Amino acid sequence: MTTSPYNNEIADNLKRIKENVYNAAVNSNRSPQDIKIMAVTKTVDPKRVNMAIDAGIELLGENRVQEFLSKRDEYNLSAARVDFIGHLQTNKVKYIIDKVSMIQSVSSLKLAKEINKCANKNNIVMDILLEVNIGNEGSKSGFLKDEITLTETLEALANLSNVNIKGLMCIPPVFDAEKYLYETYKLFVDIREKKLDNINMDILSMGMSNDYELAVKHGSNLVRLGTALFGTRK
Ligand SMILES: *Cc1c(COP(=O)(O)O)cnc(C)c1O
Repeated sequence: MTTSPYNNEIADNLKRIKENVYNAAVNSNRSPQDIKIMAVTKTVDPKRVNMAIDAGIELLGENRVQEFLSKRDEYNLSAARVDFIGHLQTNKVKYIIDKVSMIQSVSSLKLAKEINKCANKNNIVMDILLEVNIGNEGSKSGFLKDEITLTETLEALANLSNVNIKGLMCIPPVFDAEKYLYETYKLFVDIREKKLDNINMDILSMGMSNDYELAVKHGSNLVRLGTALFGTRK
C-alpha cells in the first residue's frame, strides 16, 4: 500500500462514491452490496490505476485495445479483473480475447460471432453484455431496441456456444438520461422474462460519473466510473 497524496485522493473519491451508491440503493429499496463499481481507466496512468486497486477497486474497464495492451503489464491484476467496454472492431478481438474477463460492448451480431469464433479457438467461453443504443443515436454503436427484442436476433445470439450472454450495457443520451436509463431497465426485464437458453439477464451495466446515482435508482448493478474516481481526463 502506497501513501502518496494521489492515493489518498483516489481513496477519498472511492469512499464518497460508495456512500453515494449506498444512499441511492437504500433510497430505492435495493441492496447496496449488489452494485459493483468499475474503474474506467482511459488516459489514466497505470500507477494511478493501481492506487484505485489498492483502495479496493476489483474491476477495471478498458476502452481502447492499443492503450490497454500498452498498460496491462503494469497493472496489479492479482487483485482486479478487466472488462472491455469500448468500441471493438472485429479484427481486434483476437488481441484481447485471452486478457479480459468480459466484453461489455458487444454492439452487433457480427461482433458476437467473431468473439464466439476467437473464444472457440482459445478453448474458452467468453462472458458478454449486449450494448444497447437506447437513444437511437447516430454517434453511438449498439443494438437498437427494436432489433434486440426480435426473437430472431436473440436466438442467433443464444446459439453461439462460446459466448455467455450475461446482460445489457448502455450509455444513455446526455439529455433526458433518466428516461433512457428506465427504458434500458424495462428492456432488461423484458428480455429476462423471455427465459431463453444461454441468455441470462444478470448484469445491467449503466451509470457513469454524471448519472450513476440515477442509474442505481433504475436498476443498474454495475456503474462505470472514470472522472468521479480519477478526476478530469487530460
Ligand atoms: C469513459 C467511459 C465511462 C466513464 O466515464 P466518466 O464520465 O468519466 O465516468 C464509462 N463507460 C464507458 C463506455 C466509457 O467510455
